[in-house]
Amino acid sequence: MNIVIMGPPGAGKGTQAEFIKNKYKIPHISTGDMFREAVKKGTPMGKEAQKYMNAGKLVPDQVTIGIVQDRLAEADCQAGFLLDGFPRTIVQAKALDEVLEKTDRKLDAAINIAVPDNILIQRMSGRVSCKECGKVYHLVFSPPAAQGKCDECSGELIQRSDDNAETAANRLQVYNEQTSPLLDYYQDQGLLKNVDGNRDLKAVGSDIEVILDEA
Ligand code: ADP
Ligand code: ADP
Ligand code: ZN
Repeated sequence: MNIVIMGPPGAGKGTQAEFIKNKYKIPHISTGDMFREAVKKGTPMGKEAQKYMNAGKLVPDQVTIGIVQDRLAEADCQAGFLLDGFPRTIVQAKALDEVLEKTDRKLDAAINIAVPDNILIQRMSGRVSCKECGKVYHLVFSPPAAQGKCDECSGELIQRSDDNAETAANRLQVYNEQTSPLLDYYQDQGLLKNVDGNRDLKAVGSDIEVILDEA
């Protein structure tokens, strides 16, 4: 199954992707995670990407398309994949269609998790993740058992540097201007599946499960 999961920043893409990848046994490809990894390692690409991420802007299409193209060519993606946070522009969506067509693949579904802006702000401002294993928590909505510590590995919980009020607002604006046109793009292809993301984790997850079992 070849799936794209979309939605504004903080909608719950990464959270739902965790559950989808386990259930359907497909690799979870998050461009945000790939960029954060490159930043952590201090690679030239990471240094370039960091400038855009800190400003809440999109990393240029050429860079982003390149890393996704390479990742989709790997062996573990041939039987299916879950793209999270890509595509984010029409240029990226067209590039993805081309890459898939060349390798005789196609998308099965584009899931869109919709959440109102005021809730997105709350989700981003309370988001923390484990420094060691990456597990994502929310200080109010899904807190760890012990304050500041990961339930799975006792790692330290940290906040993403782009989850501050100013950058979060920029990311919402970028989403509205550059990413939301993709909804029509996938609607026209008959692939768009809308999910109401303003409910608890399990309710959102079971809607996605129904969609994917039919896809
Ligand atoms: P995205 O990948 O779309 O940016 P995340 O999956 O990281 O979003 O979720 C953003 C924040 O909101 C995290 O702190 C997460 O724990 C929390 N969250 C995700 N889904 C829900 C939900 N349905 N209800 C409440 N909080 C949620
Ligand atoms: P969120 O959905 O919570 O905003 P992500 O982890 O998906 O977060 O993305 C974090 C940042 O990484 C984005 O604000 C952007 O700077 C960069 N990024 C991620 N995916 C893309 C993409 N497909 N195109 C351009 N930039 C991207
Ligand atoms: Zn952990």
